[in-house]
Amino acid sequence: MDGPGERSTNLLGVRHILLVLSGKGGVGKSTLSTELALALRHRGHRVGILDVDLCGPSIPRMLRVQDRAVHQCDSGWVPVFVGQDRAVALMSIGFLLERPDDAVVWRGPKKNALIKQFVTDVAWGDLDFLIVDTPPGTSDEHISTVEALRPHRLLGAILVTTPQAVSVGDVRRELTFCKKTGLRVLGVVENMSGFVCPHCSGSGIHDSLLFFLLQECTNIFSKGGGEELAKHAGVPFLGCVPLDPQLSQSLEEGRDFIQEFPKSSAFPALAHIAQQI
Ligand code: ADP
Repeated sequence: MDGPGERSTNLLGVRHILLVLSGKGGVGKSTLSTELALALRHRGHRVGILDVDLCGPSIPRMLRVQDRAVHQCDSGWVPVFVGQDRAVALMSIGFLLERPDDAVVWRGPKKNALIKQFVTDVAWGDLDFLIVDTPPGTSDEHISTVEALRPHRLLGAILVTTPQAVSVGDVRRELTFCKKTGLRVLGVVENMSGFVCPHCSGSGIHDSLLFFLLQECTNIFSKGGGEELAKHAGVPFLGCVPLDPQLSQSLEEGRDFIQEFPKSSAFPALAHIAQQI
């Protein structure tokens, strides 16, 4: 294992690392981490996901690899590879638990030690992007993650919010965290931003451009909070991802949304976000 503050040899083949942060849980941070990884893979990249949401590791299930196990090799843990092309690799505490529903009831130092181990001891190989899904908020775990990754090619952070003022307020704290830790903000994503009803929006139309032009969006929560926040903070706004039943269903079933649902309402936003990274 490398010493503190040193570069981990296991990350030397990783070209870019990006952190996904949110002020609260349930706003779609793991969803965005997963779908961004799949969208980047779709663009021909090799992608890793490091799930440091130790108390709520949901990505193994979202990628339908929850029953798989990580193995040891000479340089550490071998991540779980997703799909036949093995272009997405995942490491999560979910693979280390005896039962998938086991709760992780650990104090800060133990969590911090595991995060450091995740950074140094996973044999990622060559990756274009490593996406790090963090727990909600700005805790010790975030500081440990940023400190452990600082010697590497840390591209920056993507902040996820829902449109409501309360979530936007929490993201303001994330912005302060990024400023204090010197972490570059790549941009803000507004998730669950409106709903396109598949029954009223011309889903029978097979021309995809026409379909997207005809979509009617209902703003279930308010709208525009993420964009306004980004403008106010002087950081890029990366886009709005609508509430999309096909997206939540494919996450439930561990299916590849990007591959299987290119006509779904959330697809263009996710593809556009991946394109900007
Ligand atoms: P977090 O990681 O922030 O706690 P998750 O990514 O686990 O949040 O998302 C919470 C729930 O919301 C999940 O069940 C997910 O399927 C659903 N979800 C997230 N974003 C969307 C969306 N744009 N459309 C539909 N469902 C979504």
